[in-house]
Amino acid sequence: MESIVRVRFAPSPTGYLHVGGLRTALYNYLFARHTNGKFILRIEDTDQSRKVEGAVENLIETLKWAGLEYDEGPDRDGGYGPYVQSQRLHLYRQYADQLVEQGDAYYCFCMPERLEELRKRQQEQKQTIAYDRACRNIPVVEARKRIENGEKHVIRMKIPLEGSLTFTDVIRGDVTFQYSVLDDQVLLKSDGFPTYHLAVVIDDHFMGITHVIRGEEWLSSVPKHLLLYRYFGWQPPVLAHLPLLLNPDRTKLSKRQGDVAVEDYRARGYLKEAIVNFVALLGWNPGDDRELFTMDELIREFTLERVGKSGAIFNIEKLNWLNQQHIRRKDTKELAHLLKPIVEMKGIPLKSDEYFCAVVDLLKEKLTVLNDFVEYSRYFFEEPSTYEQEGIAKHWDTDTAHRLTVLLDALSELDTFTKPELEATFKHVAEHFGVKVAKLIHPVRLALSGRQVGPGLYEMMEILGKTTVLKRIQRAIERIQVSPM
Ligand code: GLU
Repeated sequence: MESIVRVRFAPSPTGYLHVGGLRTALYNYLFARHTNGKFILRIEDTDQSRKVEGAVENLIETLKWAGLEYDEGPDRDGGYGPYVQSQRLHLYRQYADQLVEQGDAYYCFCMPERLEELRKRQQEQKQTIAYDRACRNIPVVEARKRIENGEKHVIRMKIPLEGSLTFTDVIRGDVTFQYSVLDDQVLLKSDGFPTYHLAVVIDDHFMGITHVIRGEEWLSSVPKHLLLYRYFGWQPPVLAHLPLLLNPDRTKLSKRQGDVAVEDYRARGYLKEAIVNFVALLGWNPGDDRELFTMDELIREFTLERVGKSGAIFNIEKLNWLNQQHIRRKDTKELAHLLKPIVEMKGIPLKSDEYFCAVVDLLKEKLTVLNDFVEYSRYFFEEPSTYEQEGIAKHWDTDTAHRLTVLLDALSELDTFTKPELEATFKHVAEHFGVKVAKLIHPVRLALSGRQVGPGLYEMMEILGKTTVLKRIQRAIERIQVSPM
């Protein structure tokens, strides 16, 4: 029987969730759900200097918002915890000591000053920057004595002095590293905290991780990890390194927070469905030209075999397009629920739920991001305070006021204020003046919304209702004056 898939997302809580982080989390999540496996969240907080207050909570919040529910994690025990590395320090110490015992690691007493000097010298002589292994041959007994005497130390792993290591990555195929390019990596720091390399191997092993799916930037760490697996006599997980994320000019994806923080896209009014869909396509493809996916469809279709090797370009136009599509697909009530707080935050009075939903239904097609709704819909809730000057210049002539006065009379006669009656009335009045209906439509739109462009006029009038429409046309007639030519 095949063992159950267990994958993890293992972020370092350094502030916010990066789009690249979301992609890693999503691919792990999709893989777990596709295979009926488990998706685990592990917090890698061993670098105390990079710790940011509130970062873990923020990260969890963003993951949950995106719909990436994990089966095990800091707040969801699955029997493999704790899921926060700073709570597992005893384990790292124990296994680092074991490696020293076995002769696969050693105590190193080199002070930071010495290492700095070494680095400088190597730099000057244009050599590879690497530890010179000065402490590698200190006998363990002697080293233990120095430790007992209170000497500061780290534990470093022994990299074989010659040879190479080849492994197979699901996405990248066979990869070979020469040992000569590897440093005797520090495993345990002088403060007793492990480095990433030790902690990741120990945790992946004890948490039963079967597949490691993460960004390509970790590929060069693999040989160190595989050596550690070998030293411990453990079975390594399957490896899958995801392609780099690139800007449209093919440079590495921008590091500026506003460009890459998931929470910022969320605040700008991108739907989680669109962000998930977009991020899913950054490196994975379904094998045909489909682009629109729901989470369920992604779960059904996702396989690691369909993840490509070459860099994935972050194209904001594509995200915008996907957002439009997902907004259009969304049920009006649900969309209204998301839009309400955005409008309310601007202090705009909302009227009834029914009215709000009618506006949402009408404008749905026009939105790129949710936040567009505020300006696009404002006149449904408040009288327009100004009229677009360009619109006046284009659509308001010396006869407009007169024509609208006649139209106003005709409209006030209407008992039902719906599209067919409105359309007939406009047509009738236009014929009376011998002008095209557009001669009435454009100025009325301006009068009702203050804007030149917007949704269909009759639909707009139906929602605004007779009283408001008559009042606003009357007001525009009084306020918009054009000097006779
Ligand atoms: N803590 C690493 C990060 O922040 C995780 C790398 C891994 O998945 O092994 O990306």
